[in-house]
Amino acid sequence: MKLFYDFHIHSCLSPCGAADMTPANIANMAALMGLDVIAVADHNSTGNCGAVLSAAKRAGILALPALELCTQEEVHVLCLFPNLRSAEEFGEKVKKKLPPVRNNSAAFGRQVYMDDGDRELGEEAKLLANATGIELYDVAELMRKAGGIALPAHIGRYSFSLLSNLGFWDDEMGFKGVEMTRDSMPGLAAGKPEILSLPCLVNSDAHDLGSIQGRECFIEAEERSSEAVFAALQKLFGT
Ligand SMILES: [Zn+2]
Ligand SMILES: [Zn+2]
Repeated sequence: MKLFYDFHIHSCLSPCGAADMTPANIANMAALMGLDVIAVADHNSTGNCGAVLSAAKRAGILALPALELCTQEEVHVLCLFPNLRSAEEFGEKVKKKLPPVRNNSAAFGRQVYMDDGDRELGEEAKLLANATGIELYDVAELMRKAGGIALPAHIGRYSFSLLSNLGFWDDEMGFKGVEMTRDSMPGLAAGKPEILSLPCLVNSDAHDLGSIQGRECFIEAEERSSEAVFAALQKLFGT
């Protein structure tokens, strides 16, 4: 069956995410937009994933846990996980690799942890948007061990993408596919068959409610369950 997705949405835990990008608001907006499955991928954190999964269930849609990793090279990588446990374990490792820099919420925005009823649980003190100490060439293998899927994020974009920061594709990095966003398709990937021939997800990278995409892109899954969606992603990316 066709399940319409948006696997790259930021919550209010991302400093750049709008304050009303709360778990319930995101889930309800996604349901209104007719989406079947979403993933909230905050910068270097899975801290709101549990709340998003619960809020999604209540809104009648599916959700996968995710995060958007910023590597040492300042390349963003979309990381999708089969379940909350594997996501949170990976999230803990990522957090340890963040530099000890405090967030300046007046300059960068607040980083708010929420429950599934949109109640504030606290703020993250470390700036989540920084580059971690994780090298790009290690990401695919780390994610394979975590049971997840890693895709270089918004590959066509002119900043924080593999192509903007590295300038070339290398199979040795181990990525089996890429992510594109509407604002940069194909962007820097134009004329690069080594990238355009790869399986690809197209997501919104929404930082505000109005940017969550509608029924634009779908994945073929065996049934309407998060397990089936993840299995379909594994099949698509040959992992
Ligand atoms: Zn990004
Ligand atoms: Zn993003």
